[in-house]
Amino acid sequence: VQQNSSRLTIAIQKSGRLSQASLALLEACGFRFSLHEAKLLAHCQNQPVDLLRVRDDDIPGLVMDGVVDLGLVGENVLEEVRLKRLATQLEAKFKLLRSLDYGQCRLAIALPKEVPYQGIQDLVGKRIATTYPYLLQNYLQRVGVAANTAVLTGSVEVAPRAGLADAICDLVSTGATLEANGLVEREVIFRSQAQLIQRTTPLSSAKQSIIDQLLPRIDGVQQARESKYIMLHAPIAALEQVIALLPGAEQPTVLPLNQRQDIAAIHVVSTENLFWETMEQLKNLGCSSILVMPIEKMMG
Ligand code: ATP
Ligand code: MG
Repeated sequence: VQQNSSRLTIAIQKSGRLSQASLALLEACGFRFSLHEAKLLAHCQNQPVDLLRVRDDDIPGLVMDGVVDLGLVGENVLEEVRLKRLATQLEAKFKLLRSLDYGQCRLAIALPKEVPYQGIQDLVGKRIATTYPYLLQNYLQRVGVAANTAVLTGSVEVAPRAGLADAICDLVSTGATLEANGLVEREVIFRSQAQLIQRTTPLSSAKQSIIDQLLPRIDGVQQARESKYIMLHAPIAALEQVIALLPGAEQPTVLPLNQRQDIAAIHVVSTENLFWETMEQLKNLGCSSILVMPIEKMMG
């Protein structure tokens, strides 16, 4: 890749579980990209920013080597690469800028359901198939269990049935894949979500100022995703009870309604979603026109 030092380069996964969410986050932060499916590099149309689209395994190394300025990658891949590079005396430094609210999963050890399991000691001497040998060995050392690892780059979940291993250590989010393969999750060894990382070598002030603008925008997008705008009509007599039911709403806006002395409108930004149960309780207090709306962006 030709490095143009004046443009901030951000590495994201080209195609996979993190691609859409990573791109959507950058776009929600105001960066506009027009992607051509086959192209590795995409120019941002409204900022001096380039997007480098690669396999997720390559993202930590690109950041640690200072080839790109920022990377969006799963913590599992980041930590695996970090451990591997430390073991081979390669530079493994990065700056963690933000934990991102997508890509949640866990790295777990699973065994065939018919194999009895009392605890971690039952793994001694077992052969565990994984794509994450460094994270797995790191864990086994920490808990003092001597087991063997078999490294597979894909289809780890079929390894026990294929007679390649006794157990697996793989990423799980819902557990459906494990269940479909007759496996039961026994130990969680690492919890992960997407991370925004930066190279540790100094950046030009132009690049730094883009990052300084990006971070509060990311916070705003993430905060907005967790928040709701709630509007309702409430009987003035029940105002305190109503406000107490609204999550995270210490100072709601209370507005008079035209020609009604008994009812007021309440507007509130809530830090949580409003559950059906709460809406039903509000209705029982005499509230009406209860609206829960998503918030797109937040600042200040
Ligand atoms: P690439 O071709 O980029 O190497 P990949 O096949 O290694 O892709 P994906 O399956 O797309 O990777 O997963 C990317 C990341 O998504 C994982 O490293 C992990 O951080 C996250 N993730 C979230 N949920 C899951 C899940 N259920 N299974 C696997 N990965 C998940
Ligand atoms: Mg990968």
